[in-house]
Amino acid sequence: MSNSFIYILNFIIGSIIGSHLLVIVQRFETEDFITDKSHCDNCQIPLTLLNQIPIFSFLRYQGKCFFCHAYIPIETFYCEILGGLAFMPLNPLTNQISYLFIIFIFLISIFDYFDQSFPVQILIPLIAIVGFKISYFISDYTPIEWMLISFVILSFLIMNLKKKFGYGDTIIFIILIFYYNFYIAEYLFLLSSIFLIITHLIAQNKKQYPFIPFIFLSIIFYNFI
Ligand SMILES: [Zn+2]
Repeated sequence: MSNSFIYILNFIIGSIIGSHLLVIVQRFETEDFITDKSHCDNCQIPLTLLNQIPIFSFLRYQGKCFFCHAYIPIETFYCEILGGLAFMPLNPLTNQISYLFIIFIFLISIFDYFDQSFPVQILIPLIAIVGFKISYFISDYTPIEWMLISFVILSFLIMNLKKKFGYGDTIIFIILIFYYNFYIAEYLFLLSSIFLIITHLIAQNKKQYPFIPFIFLSIIFYNFI
């Protein structure tokens, strides 16, 4: 398979998954998002296949429902683009687990974006994914590095207690340490903070920002370079 073919296929699959993850978050605990047909939230008319093509359908109908012309949330479009971009650089031949990792991190960031929190059960698959890698890490770090890691995690927990920072963010940081490594996790957090500061500077209405969507953005960025 050529690289460009994999990129395109990854982008298409990622954008479809992105829009479905948003549906899961929007219908969580209210509707059956697995068996229910996709429908417009305003007119409830089930969508045809042509109305469900990621990115294209949104642009084609100018962000409105094909049937009742009600506006579709812009987040649908963002999730389709971000899902596509997040999947694009992944390698289906050498690293299949990265797809699962991206899906669950993405799901958590969408929850965090809307609710400033996420259901803890989503952490279970992530912990299972990193669980495979832990034995490697225990032998890999020097005692000094372990002290550094403990110190950083401890300072995060202190910020959690002072409510400067959510516990979910600390848990995601620990997951990143075990999925990538400590230095990449630090790098991703630094990058997320830069993205957050830029957003804060250009945003019209200053508010509290969920942090995990910025971590997700930095993971996308990191996977491309
Ligand atoms: Zn409609």
